[in-house]
Amino acid sequence: MAYAFAYSSPDPNDGRFDNLDEIETSQETSGEKSEKSVQQHQNDDELTGIVRKTTGKDRYVAQNADVTGSDIKDIKQLFGVRLKPMKKDVQTEKTDFKSFLFGPRKKTAHPHSQPKIKYQQPDKVSTVDPDPNASYPNNFVLKLRSGKTRHQRGYHESVKPLPHDAPKKENHTRFVCVSDTHNEHDNINIPDGDVLLHCGDFTLAGKMHEITDFNRWLGEIPFERKIVIAGNHELSFDPKIMEGVKIAKEKKGYSRWGSYLEPILDKDYKSVSSHLTNCTYLEDSGETINGIRIWGSPWQPEFGGWGFNVPRGREILKKWDLIPGNGIDILMTHGPPAGHGDKVQSGMSVGCVDLLNSVQLRVQPKYHLFGHIHEDYGITTDNFTTYINCSSVNYQYQPVHKAIIFDLPNKVL
Ligand SMILES: [Zn+2]
Repeated sequence: MAYAFAYSSPDPNDGRFDNLDEIETSQETSGEKSEKSVQQHQNDDELTGIVRKTTGKDRYVAQNADVTGSDIKDIKQLFGVRLKPMKKDVQTEKTDFKSFLFGPRKKTAHPHSQPKIKYQQPDKVSTVDPDPNASYPNNFVLKLRSGKTRHQRGYHESVKPLPHDAPKKENHTRFVCVSDTHNEHDNINIPDGDVLLHCGDFTLAGKMHEITDFNRWLGEIPFERKIVIAGNHELSFDPKIMEGVKIAKEKKGYSRWGSYLEPILDKDYKSVSSHLTNCTYLEDSGETINGIRIWGSPWQPEFGGWGFNVPRGREILKKWDLIPGNGIDILMTHGPPAGHGDKVQSGMSVGCVDLLNSVQLRVQPKYHLFGHIHEDYGITTDNFTTYINCSSVNYQYQPVHKAIIFDLPNKVL
């Protein structure tokens, strides 16, 4: 009679045996004797191809084993294997071999091949607590994409952009999103749409001639509405920066941005944004268009002492707490949240942890637009909010990224 055999395994149904043709287990007792015996069996006609020893480790492979007579005793001794009578046709029906040996396979998922679980949007909270990982966005993102939190918070999934010539449905508003144009606005191909949204960094240093040229361009493009926020490069829009320049000038001291911004001091430096006459400028403020609610915020986690820099943690969370939690459809920030469109050249995530928490747990907008990290342009989703990094320029400040469009149904007809 033929016998099938396999070696003992802590739990043969644990899903580790994916290849039914070949079963690989550990042989716990090793030593000279067993190695010799294996060699012997490999030379035996009846056992050729049945027992193989893998090099270096005490591991053995059983392949659709079929042994007879006195070999059974040897194999039992050698490996302490379980032997079961084998049906005649088992050798040819390889797919049944495993269940023949171990019984029906339990339907447990392989730990490394878990099915994708769609992000379940959590119940809205009214306040977001400061995150203990606020200062370590990359660690936060790695944690978010592994273990249990992965299912609770969703994960980065790319989304294809809508083609610029896609037809627009009736009673919808088409939004055209750009960001980080950095004085290259004339070199960017802007598709048709109803509302232009610009997420900041339209200048290089917030100098007056940069602002007026951008405003001239805004006046030339045919949109019903244009919404603009500032970014870290709009230095003159940040009152803290302008105060610093003013104090340095008065005391005849040094100011890093003095050479760029001193001329603005002679104008009304406290309301530089008033020079943007051809758009609606948002700064911790909102606007409603066709019933669709939009909120704009220029802040980003501190980096390099630029405009609208705020330390990570409690301080920046205070800025996100200004975003209303009751039905914002489109959130515009200059910087990205952690985990979406926030990877720098090195592959590290640098986005704001508290911003992601506020977006996912409290604000829950349909769209979150931003720029700032030029090199991670594109669209992602957590299956509820769509995240758009619409940086128009790339890492080298070349205007190569297309504007991104999307449509939303009007809430007032
Ligand atoms: Zn930029």
